[in-house]
Amino acid sequence: MTRKTIPFDIEDVKRMEETTPTPFHVYDGAAILARAEALRRAFAWAPGYRNYFAVKATPNPAILELLRAADTGADCSSLAELVMAERSGLTGDRVMFTSNDTPAEEFRKAAKMGATINFDDIGHIGFAERALGGRLPQVACCRYNPGPLKDGNAIIGKPEEAKYGFTRPQLFEGYRMLKERGVRKFGLHAMVASNERSAPYFVETARLLFDLVAALSRELGIAFDFVNLGGGFGIPYRPEEDEIDLDAVGRGVKEAAEDILVRNGIAMPRIATESGRFVTGPCGWLVSRVLHVKRTYRVYAGLDASMANLMRPALYGAYHHITVFGKENAPAAEVYDVTGSLCENNDKFAIARPLPELEPGDVVAIHDAGAHGHAMGFNYNGKLRSAEWLLPPGGGAPVLIRRAETLNDLFSTLVPPLRVRPEPPSGGRG
Ligand SMILES: *Cc1c(COP(=O)(O)O)cnc(C)c1O
Repeated sequence: MTRKTIPFDIEDVKRMEETTPTPFHVYDGAAILARAEALRRAFAWAPGYRNYFAVKATPNPAILELLRAADTGADCSSLAELVMAERSGLTGDRVMFTSNDTPAEEFRKAAKMGATINFDDIGHIGFAERALGGRLPQVACCRYNPGPLKDGNAIIGKPEEAKYGFTRPQLFEGYRMLKERGVRKFGLHAMVASNERSAPYFVETARLLFDLVAALSRELGIAFDFVNLGGGFGIPYRPEEDEIDLDAVGRGVKEAAEDILVRNGIAMPRIATESGRFVTGPCGWLVSRVLHVKRTYRVYAGLDASMANLMRPALYGAYHHITVFGKENAPAAEVYDVTGSLCENNDKFAIARPLPELEPGDVVAIHDAGAHGHAMGFNYNGKLRSAEWLLPPGGGAPVLIRRAETLNDLFSTLVPPLRVRPEPPSGGRG
């Protein structure tokens, strides 16, 4: 069981609304730091352990700076994410570049920042070498796709059908190529699950990777500097679900490393992870107002937010808990489809959800919107992306860390741009 709480109240919402009308996202800085620390604690036994926060989960410099101060790194997969990490003070070995189908300029940017390049494909080694003028960085990592050796899950799919990573034989060839090209420090990476809460699943993945490290070390005479277990640590979206037992993951990974590596005379590599969702997911809420209640074949509560603000329910049928401000203790008296306004029938935050009786003007908080929430936003139907607020870890008033988009933002790339005057209010209702 997980208690679904909210670290701000309706008075805070009203104050934020004076600057940015609903909908908007609110993040809890103290909770983000506590979860980054929980991850660190689980791997406290591992010298040099680091989580590289997956920037794509919550791409905002305020969040990255918060995590940087807590010794977290950044996992980037695009030029924009590299630039944002750099501007947030994260460069060098604090940055992992785990991309796929990678453009040449992104390899160049990553190398320039001193980021650790995690190759997605054997063909990328020569491609990057050419992009970098014939010289690869001293450190390199390869991404392993275990294919049929590992079951996937609903979000990431089966490894066999996934576009990511090297096959096992390709890894042997890939590291040989890297060694020949002067690379001196090696890492091995895999990310085969998404939103997975089973500790044994991650331990099993670690075993697979350590076995490979042992085989590659022996055959190629190379030493592994680090093993990156990827991200995918899940969170309890439903109140009846439990948090993943990270300490059990940490203990299991330690046992596996001792078993497979240390006992066979292979030096213990540093452990890295790329967790995004676990760190920020439960620490973000999408705040929205009920605009309409409609009674036809079902009862619909229409919000001023849409799947442009939080796509997970529409994309994966994901559950997100909903709390109605002022009705926290009211009985769930009616069953609603909670919808957005896109001209897409899957624009629903909840389907057949028992909730307290809703009226226009009610304010709701949609939980667990801190990762892969705002970040997946888009502009279909001309929907504007919402504002983001951060509750500072030390307490005090919420800080605006992204304003809402305006119509002029939306129209600015048209040729010629379309200007609207005067600007309507900067919220999603504008
Ligand atoms: C998305 C992604 C992550 C982060 O996943 P979470 O589920 O947010 O932990 C980490 N690494 C890679 C390569 C990814 O694609």
